[in-house]
Amino acid sequence: MSINQNSLSSAVHPRKILIANWKLHGSGSHVERWVQAVQTLEEIRSGQMQVILCPPAIWLERARGYVQGERLALGVQNVSAQSEGSFTGEISAAMAFEAGARYALVGHSERRRLFGETDQMVAAKVEQSAQAGLIPIVCIGETAEEKRAGQTEPVLARQLECLGALHGEPVSTLWIAYEPIWSIGTGIPAEAGNILAVAAFIRAHVASSDATMRNQFRLFYGGSVGAGNAAALGTLEGVDGFLVGGASVEADSMVALCRALV
Ligand code: PEP
Repeated sequence: MSINQNSLSSAVHPRKILIANWKLHGSGSHVERWVQAVQTLEEIRSGQMQVILCPPAIWLERARGYVQGERLALGVQNVSAQSEGSFTGEISAAMAFEAGARYALVGHSERRRLFGETDQMVAAKVEQSAQAGLIPIVCIGETAEEKRAGQTEPVLARQLECLGALHGEPVSTLWIAYEPIWSIGTGIPAEAGNILAVAAFIRAHVASSDATMRNQFRLFYGGSVGAGNAAALGTLEGVDGFLVGGASVEADSMVALCRALV
């Protein structure tokens, strides 16, 4: 992918993006209602914003059947670190792509914390996703304890080592979501100053291995974003959008969030 040197500011990504992570929620009929409600929004039809829906993988194909146009795309919440083999219950990145996903959440804190995903596994999933044609959305973030200990930057730097799995491919083929674990699901987002400082750190850290890459990847914040705070958070420089859990599941709440952001 070629790199446009003139696009080194957040203005290169003027369109805000919302990534809806349903986690273990939803049903086939819910997918239909949700997709219809969201994709008909003027804010989306006009191209002012884009939505990536990440339903449970079993609903991907069904969702694909309802989606019209490019403003609503599909992502998978997780992929296997393996491409194929005797790995019961796993779904490969290629399978997710075939079912309609074009993005993959990788290394979500719930996967790391509850399912024992290591940085090495996250790196393998980044590689698998990229090889299958999915854009990996790498989730990174520190715990409350790590934050109190002043360890945020070293923790994020360690988690960003998975970028090596791209083997020199441009970082613009990858998205990064900063999701402080102490904010997820609490109703209390990180403060704007905190998000800005961490976003600057992440961009500088990525740029330290390749200076042209500072603004060539999309960067998201996740943690208790909803209709009530989206407008304020949406103005943050260098933040391309939000990864949303709880507020993304119900269609009404997602619609309100989209309207608040634009
Ligand atoms: C998440 O789990 O990725 C997340 C951001 O959740 P919530 O929006 O509910 O805090």
